[in-house]
Amino acid sequence: MKLAFLDRDGVISIFTPNDYIKKWDEFQFLPSAIEGLRILAQDGFKIIIISNQAGVGRKVFSEKDLQDTTERMLSELKRNGIEIFKVYYCIHTPEDNCNCRKPKTGMLERFISEYGDFERERAFFVGDSDVDIEIGARMGLKTILVLSGKTKSIEEVEKWNYKPDFIASDLKEAAEIIVTGRTNGQENKSCCLE
Ligand SMILES: [Mg+2]
Ligand SMILES: [Zn+2]
Repeated sequence: MKLAFLDRDGVISIFTPNDYIKKWDEFQFLPSAIEGLRILAQDGFKIIIISNQAGVGRKVFSEKDLQDTTERMLSELKRNGIEIFKVYYCIHTPEDNCNCRKPKTGMLERFISEYGDFERERAFFVGDSDVDIEIGARMGLKTILVLSGKTKSIEEVEKWNYKPDFIASDLKEAAEIIVTGRTNGQENKSCCLE
């Protein structure tokens, strides 16, 4: 099973600083996201979205709004020939102290409980922030940081406890890294490449 776990905001859709994507009309795909998803899908990867959406817990938008946004996103992708295997959200706030808010590993553990364990080191987690790299690393996945969202530069990574295996400009480049195993000179040499 080829698995690619993806964060949503800042990876597939735009990152909105100090705000949430509250409803569908605020949702925007990042420019190369659909192409990146297509590269993964055509290579046989199952794509799973793993996203923190604390705006629900904070009552900034409702679970129904989130569901509506998700359904429209999925149908837009479907129109482009892209199937998303599964979407997991954590809708809690940090104060809820749940076990699923990234960097906690609950959403990945839930996937494993539903579909069984997999070859961790051959699966990928792609995200735009430190919590994505942490959840991926803690679960033993290969991690790719994209600079299309919250994290703007490689320098920010230096103070993180968990360093990404690869750094890509966006999801399309991350997808190319995943399917070709090549990195176009963008690998994070400071840490942990094989
Ligand atoms: Mg994000
Ligand atoms: Zn949660």
